[in-house]
Amino acid sequence: MANCIICNHSLTSKNDSAEHIIPNAIGGFRKVWGFLCNLCNNTTGHDWDAVLASQLNGLCHFFDIKRERGSTPDQTISTTAGETFRMLSQGGFALPKPTVDKTEAGGRTQYQVVARDMPEARRILRDLQRKFPKIDVEVELTKVQARTSYPKGMVEIPCQIGGVQAGRSIVKSAVALVHDSGIPAVACDQALVYLRDQNVPACFGYYSTTDLLIERPVGVPLHCVAVSGNSTTGMLLGYVEYFGFLRAVVLLSETYIGPNIENCYAIDPTTGMQLDLSVRLQFSQADMVDIFDYKHCDNEATKQAADAVFGPGMARKRQREQSHAVKKAVQYAFENCGAQPGDILTEEQLRIIAQLMSERLIPFIVNLNQPRPLPTSSNLRSDIKDQSGT
Ligand SMILES: [Zn+2]
Repeated sequence: MANCIICNHSLTSKNDSAEHIIPNAIGGFRKVWGFLCNLCNNTTGHDWDAVLASQLNGLCHFFDIKRERGSTPDQTISTTAGETFRMLSQGGFALPKPTVDKTEAGGRTQYQVVARDMPEARRILRDLQRKFPKIDVEVELTKVQARTSYPKGMVEIPCQIGGVQAGRSIVKSAVALVHDSGIPAVACDQALVYLRDQNVPACFGYYSTTDLLIERPVGVPLHCVAVSGNSTTGMLLGYVEYFGFLRAVVLLSETYIGPNIENCYAIDPTTGMQLDLSVRLQFSQADMVDIFDYKHCDNEATKQAADAVFGPGMARKRQREQSHAVKKAVQYAFENCGAQPGDILTEEQLRIIAQLMSERLIPFIVNLNQPRPLPTSSNLRSDIKDQSGT
């Protein structure tokens, strides 16, 4: 068995671990073995992959990715209208926190409570009851009005990747695919030096001036890891792309002497399906100098690539919102029409159901009529230079 790529300890059946080529938190499925010891798997998962995943969390929500295990954590987002919401792991939005407003008028104190659900409303009223024993919590709860509202402004989704930790997650993914291609990870000498020593400058650069994917599927926010090794030029290169527009080229080695290889692992994270794709990955040492020097990092090209996936992503998101709104309206109408489960509905109950459903759907229908431009995509964070000090 090989050694752990980080600590170099021998891997045994006891300390070997399964490592996702693309982190599970952003939708990766395929795993490699004989690559990381348990300890380094935990450390790199916590220190590197978790940072990358948190930078990409808003996109995981927006595209509603499928994960092998766990769900996308809630995310606080703001809108161009200055609103703040939490995007929930089970779908939909919630207020970031409950509010309690106090007003004094004519010697009377009035409280208005806005809570995210009934248990929270009950908790807040109980707290108030301690101060004001006259409050009857159960009576007050009968006066609660449920309200559905949608963001008025355009949702701003954070889409920046980078930094010393997320950068190492990107490079580790390329090394994992080399290992998965049957080439010992030690062939990635430059990448391993970078991964093992936090003071070593980055061995990757963002790349957007040309599309390296051959026959890119239209509108798919795909994840892709590719490697290419050429013993004649000595170049062993990696390519990592997340959500179809965050793209980086990795220099794994300049002294590669193994068999020539080309390998690509790509998935559509919205379905978890693997995609059969290939990548043009032929750069010289001089090209790599340009890539490290930001000469292939073009913000306009990145924005165009982002827009190509955000448009279809928004259409899918609206479809999901519609199903969610209709389901909730039907549930609410049936629960409040006065019939018990199993009853044959009277004409009056049917009329109530129709009325309650349309009442409940009005906020959604009004929201549909709002002009809503695409979510904004921010530029890649340009801190590779800061990190290498060049
Ligand atoms: Zn280790």
